[in-house]
Amino acid sequence: MHATENMPTAQLQSWDKQYVWHPFTQMQDWLAEEPLVIVRGEGSWLIDSDGSRYLDGVASMWTNVHGHSHPALNKALADQAARLEHSTLLGLAGEQSILLAKQLIEIAPAGLRKVFYSDNGSTAVEVGLKMAYQYHCHKGEPQRSRFLRLQHAYHGDTIGSMSVGGISIYHDTFKPLLFSTIEAPAPYCYRCPMGQSDPAACGMACLEALEQLMCEHREYLAGMLMEPLLQGAGGMLVHPAGYLKGVRQLCDRYGVLLITDEVATGFGRTGSMFACQQEGVTPDIMAISKGLCAGYLPLAATLATEEIYQAFLGNYAELKTFFHGHTFTGNPLACAVALRSLELFEETGLLESVGQRSKQLTALLQQLEDHPHVGNLRQCGLAAGIELVQDKATKAAYPWEEKRGVRVCQEARRHGVFSRPLGNTVVVFPPLAITEDELAFLMEGLNKAIRVVTD
Ligand SMILES: *Cc1c(COP(=O)(O)O)cnc(C)c1O
Repeated sequence: MHATENMPTAQLQSWDKQYVWHPFTQMQDWLAEEPLVIVRGEGSWLIDSDGSRYLDGVASMWTNVHGHSHPALNKALADQAARLEHSTLLGLAGEQSILLAKQLIEIAPAGLRKVFYSDNGSTAVEVGLKMAYQYHCHKGEPQRSRFLRLQHAYHGDTIGSMSVGGISIYHDTFKPLLFSTIEAPAPYCYRCPMGQSDPAACGMACLEALEQLMCEHREYLAGMLMEPLLQGAGGMLVHPAGYLKGVRQLCDRYGVLLITDEVATGFGRTGSMFACQQEGVTPDIMAISKGLCAGYLPLAATLATEEIYQAFLGNYAELKTFFHGHTFTGNPLACAVALRSLELFEETGLLESVGQRSKQLTALLQQLEDHPHVGNLRQCGLAAGIELVQDKATKAAYPWEEKRGVRVCQEARRHGVFSRPLGNTVVVFPPLAITEDELAFLMEGLNKAIRVVTD
């Protein structure tokens, strides 16, 4: 048993409040709570310092793939630690980062050829932005320095990745620090920004609006950044079929690079290895992170086409080098776990079971359809958002100060489920290897909690 497991919960909670500043958390609220202190993980479950078990309904911030503390991944990590914990990619090559890059290119959308490593989703996006801009510089078009992005976009929390974000409560405070970007309407059909009411009949008016923006700004556009199929942090917004393909066509028409952020959607979440593959789309640049290392260690990568990569080649003195790099780039421990995770996808037939669990999730979500405060159910593979509303007929939102989403998650804990909402949207985002019984348990807990909190 690990030493800390003997530490009394009250002591750990007290030190947490004394020393730790939690992310995206109003600490004044936190100080009034008795936080769960997680000490162990087992499959889809998190176990706290009192021994209570909670189903991990958000896959530990969307990272977990094969379950917690998985024996095969533990072994890969321990074996690699016994060989080499870290050496730099600045001036040296590394066995594990080579093998992983080769694997990633084999499974990535056809046409992506090079892997640039970093360590989290925000940096993977920043790398993509810098790469896109410098590419245009190399092509003699340095005026192409602006980026298009969607409403409700989320691409991370660093200055550059916030600049391409579109969630006002996260980003507005920092506006003076950010570079300006061009906002395109989000294909959020439940609350259509184009004022349309029938997604089957509108012919994607949002794509027409995007085209207008591209046309208007085409001389200055470096790239279009988007989360393909599913906008996660923006509220689990699921795009209509064909939207991504339409964006790819517009980007080609106007010479704009398509940068897809698959940080949340990558590695099986939407049912295919990468979301782009469902619409046969290859982006010019693709950012990946969360599921890459199966929830074990911070690891990220930005993949690029040969065309992008080639533009950076030149004589040393031409300064065409991509001057970017993080200290832990290509960390061998993380790469070894990521490699083993990709093998497990094959060994366990994970993508097929995600397909089955997704169908089960569709059926379980339907049980909420007639609920008077469930305004919209959105699902993409093994990810879903349940948008709660005050008034179903008018779609009037609950006032945010009522914290309905937060309260649903608090109540869900009493039913053995850990979740974290996005405003008034309840999130379903479990470890991909969740079993049939566990998914039923998760949805029953959320269902009960929604009923209690909206009664
Ligand atoms: C989480 C997330 C990020 C940011 O990743 P971090 O590792 O938290 O920096 C970027 N893009 C998307 C789509 C995400 O879901």
